[in-house]
Amino acid sequence: MKKILVVEDEEDINSLIREHLSGSGFEVESVYGGDDALEKAEEKDFDLIVLDILLPGLDGWEVCQQLRRSQRTRNIPIVFLSALSREPDRIRGFDLGGDDYIVKPFSPRELVSRVKAILKRVNGKIVDKKSVSIGDLKVDFLKHQVYVGGKPAYLTSSEFKILHVLISNEDRVFTRDELLDAIGEEGQILEYGNIDVHVHHLRQKIERDPKNPKYIKTVWGVGYRFASSK
Ligand code: CA
Repeated sequence: MKKILVVEDEEDINSLIREHLSGSGFEVESVYGGDDALEKAEEKDFDLIVLDILLPGLDGWEVCQQLRRSQRTRNIPIVFLSALSREPDRIRGFDLGGDDYIVKPFSPRELVSRVKAILKRVNGKIVDKKSVSIGDLKVDFLKHQVYVGGKPAYLTSSEFKILHVLISNEDRVFTRDELLDAIGEEGQILEYGNIDVHVHHLRQKIERDPKNPKYIKTVWGVGYRFASSK
């Protein structure tokens, strides 16, 4: 279940959004101010944040900037929701790293479908490249083949999918849940633990020293990321 944090100081709007999102199958938590939003985002993993701009205390701009600065929260999609409808405000929202900007008054149903669209886009974003070479690793996406130091490594389909998602989004941290979504096929029973097993095998196959991985890094308490060699 995807978890969404709603940050909105107006009680009515806050509960309206909460109702619509939970009615659509999301797990929703809500807060009424900027400081609480940052606190919540640090203590729990959210898949997306709906963020009002005019808030008591820290405003939405500042909250967004701080979220983008922390490694733990910098990749969480943010949907701004604001009565500030002028073009410069909307542009500022995107410049600060917002993923969408919805102007009040708004349709709750549209908000839900925009949220769904963003989550779909974010999950397993795949680059449109034929191959990628990083260090001694080469991934040929067309042939589904991986080479380590010029020698082929034989990956299972799930291992390949995990590597594909991670390498396509260098440095972005993926939660186990997101990786499950990326490799999941209908009818398959998948558990968190499966991801760790796949990653373990993947490291055996592509890392020179699997115990001290250079490519696939564990982000404690969050998930995994592909380390850029830069
Ligand atoms: Ca407000």
